[in-house]
Amino acid sequence: MKKHNFSAGPCILPQSVFQKASQAVLNFNDLDLSILEISHRSKDFVEVMETARNLALEHLGLQNSNYTALFLQGGASMQFLMTAYNLLENKAAYLNTGTWSSKAIKEAKLIGEVIEVASSAKDNFNYIPKNYTIPNHVDYFHCTSNNTIFGTQMHQFPDTSAPMVCDMSSDIFSRELDFKKFSLIYAGAQKNMGPAGTTLVVIKNDILGRVSRAIPSMLNYKTHIEKESMFNTPPVFSVYVSMLTMQWLKDKGGIKAIAKQNEKKANLLYSEIDRNPLFKGLVANKEDRSQMNATFTLESKDLESAFEDYLKEAGINGLKGHRSIGGYRASMYNALPLDSVEVLVETMQTLEKNA
Ligand SMILES: *Cc1c(COP(=O)(O)O)cnc(C)c1O
Repeated sequence: MKKHNFSAGPCILPQSVFQKASQAVLNFNDLDLSILEISHRSKDFVEVMETARNLALEHLGLQNSNYTALFLQGGASMQFLMTAYNLLENKAAYLNTGTWSSKAIKEAKLIGEVIEVASSAKDNFNYIPKNYTIPNHVDYFHCTSNNTIFGTQMHQFPDTSAPMVCDMSSDIFSRELDFKKFSLIYAGAQKNMGPAGTTLVVIKNDILGRVSRAIPSMLNYKTHIEKESMFNTPPVFSVYVSMLTMQWLKDKGGIKAIAKQNEKKANLLYSEIDRNPLFKGLVANKEDRSQMNATFTLESKDLESAFEDYLKEAGINGLKGHRSIGGYRASMYNALPLDSVEVLVETMQTLEKNA
């Protein structure tokens, strides 16, 4: 029986996508060839890349606009450096909400001056700072929309005249936002879009060309824009599976429809965390809770092994919290069915009844 997979990443993708992907490994588009053995310049693969790039823009409501979508390599971690390399001339403002933001700040500091506008580091990132000021005349403002490890999510974005750069790795395509507010969005595929190996980057074209340094070809967004995301051999399988997932999302009714489902899943789990006396949430302010990654723990360590036995019996996978915070983390990405959350809630209730 298939597991209820709450893994934080790489994580669950739609079952139908796994099936189509495995078929394409054996015989892609009835070519009697595997997708893994054809040229990335072939008509069939170029069409995959174009479809994937278009679907990404379509889902974000940015098609027919001055945005370009790219599928790059090096993970979201490479974007920590690339964003700074391409956009940071003098100063940039960063909001520090977790491990990933901190890593982005570290890379940017190699390139220029970083102003940390606010940080929740002192409280082990258990809330999202608010009421900070973004100084005038910064080259850009960088934030992380969803903090995968700590289970917090930005539910409001600041109004700023600076271009807004956002790491949306773990909540891309999960909720409706005004994506036009962002000048650059990046997301490693393996949280909500596809397999590891590619990163979606969506860039507003006019923010490029403002820095004076020479940029190595592979790190230069312009290279990849000019070459339509085919400057070098792209990660063909990751892009293909991401395309399938975006098509699945479109068939489901797009972000609007999936957002309702995600809200339902998150509400169900958080209500149980709040109701069940054996558990407590790990985010300080309820308003900052993530709809994608819910972090919680047992009130008493004594029940740990009993709970873990029940989880195993129920076929629940990937619930262990990140080592930097402990406890449990239920990742409820787009492809996780409501049914899996129901099973988790029942398991929490079983523990309560038998404790
Ligand atoms: C997982 C994650 C990353 C790191 O992604 P890689 O693709 O492994 O480099 C960065 N940011 C966020 C928000 C993440 O969840």
